[in-house]
Amino acid sequence: MPFVPQSALEYRSAEAVRPAVCRDYAFVRDASMPYHGVVVRSRRGVFLLAVVCALGCGCAGGLAHPDASLFPPPPRDAITFWGHACCYIDVGGVGVVTDPVFDRSLFFRRRRIPAPPASSYAGARVVLISHAHPDHLSPGTLRTFPAGAVVLCPAPSAKYFGDVGLTVRVMAPGDEFEFEGGRIVAVAAFHMGTRWGVRAQADGRALGYVIETPNATVYYSGDSNYFSGFADVGWTYAPDVVLLNVNGHLRSTDASRAAWATQAGVVIPIHWGAFPWWIFGGNQRPRDEPALARMVGDRLRVLEIGQSVALDQVSHRRRALP
Ligand SMILES: [Zn+2]
Repeated sequence: MPFVPQSALEYRSAEAVRPAVCRDYAFVRDASMPYHGVVVRSRRGVFLLAVVCALGCGCAGGLAHPDASLFPPPPRDAITFWGHACCYIDVGGVGVVTDPVFDRSLFFRRRRIPAPPASSYAGARVVLISHAHPDHLSPGTLRTFPAGAVVLCPAPSAKYFGDVGLTVRVMAPGDEFEFEGGRIVAVAAFHMGTRWGVRAQADGRALGYVIETPNATVYYSGDSNYFSGFADVGWTYAPDVVLLNVNGHLRSTDASRAAWATQAGVVIPIHWGAFPWWIFGGNQRPRDEPALARMVGDRLRVLEIGQSVALDQVSHRRRALP
C-alpha cells in the first residue's frame, strides 16, 4: 500500500519541486482537487521520507510562547485575526473562535509568531473546528480553552477530543447551534475531512460555519476548493463578511470567484501568517494578494495578525453579483 503523506506535502506546485528534491516520488493529481499528493515509489524514497518525517516529528511538541502584547484580549463585537485559520469573533462578550492551533510546530511547519495567552481567550464559549487536519485541530491547544466552551466539529474530527475536557457537538451541513447573542449554522466545505486525508469531498466531513450575530453575519469558509457551496451560502445566509481561507485550497482566481459567489461586502483573507513551510517558505501573506485585490476591489480587507474589525463596520455591505 503506498504511503501518502497529508497536508504537510501540499506543495504550491508539485512540478516546481520535482526536479530538485523529488526524483523518487511520483506525483498523483486528485481529479477532484487542484493539489498534488505524493506517492513514494522506491526504497531510497521511503528512507528519505522517513528521515524527514523523523526530523519533523522531533521538532514538534508543545505550544508556542504566549505574547500578550501581540494578542491582547480581543475587543468586544469585533473580528480579530490571530493567524492562520484562527479568528476570534466577539459577540456581545461571547467568544467564538475558528480553528485555534497554537502549536510551536506542525510537522514541516514551524510557527513563526507567538501564541495568544490563555487570558486573551478566557471569554471563548464556542470553538469552531472546520476539519481534522493538524493545522486546524490541535487537542493541545483546546486543552487550554475555558472548561465551559463548546466545540462544534464535523464527524471525522470528533475522535480527537477525548481528553480535552470540553463539550463536543458533532455538526453536519444545515445543523444549527444557538448561543447567547447569536446562532451558528454548519455548511459544507469541499475539502478532505480526516486528519491525514488527501481526497476532497463536499459531504460534510469538512465544514464551514455561518455565524449570525446582532450586528453582522459572518461566514467562515474553512479550507475548501471552489465549489457551488460558496454561492449557496451567499444566497441562503447573505453574509456581510467572509473569512476566506485563501491559502487553504483556493488557488489563483478561485479565491476571487469564491469571494464574489458569497456576495459578502467584506472579504477577509485568512489561513496565512503563522505556519510557513520549512522547506518552501511563503504563506506569510494572503496568496495572490495583488490579484485578489484587483478582482475583489474595495471589498478586500486584509487584517494583520492581531488586528480587529468591528462587526458593525462590516454589516449591511452585502452586494449582489454584477
Ligand atoms: Zn485542510
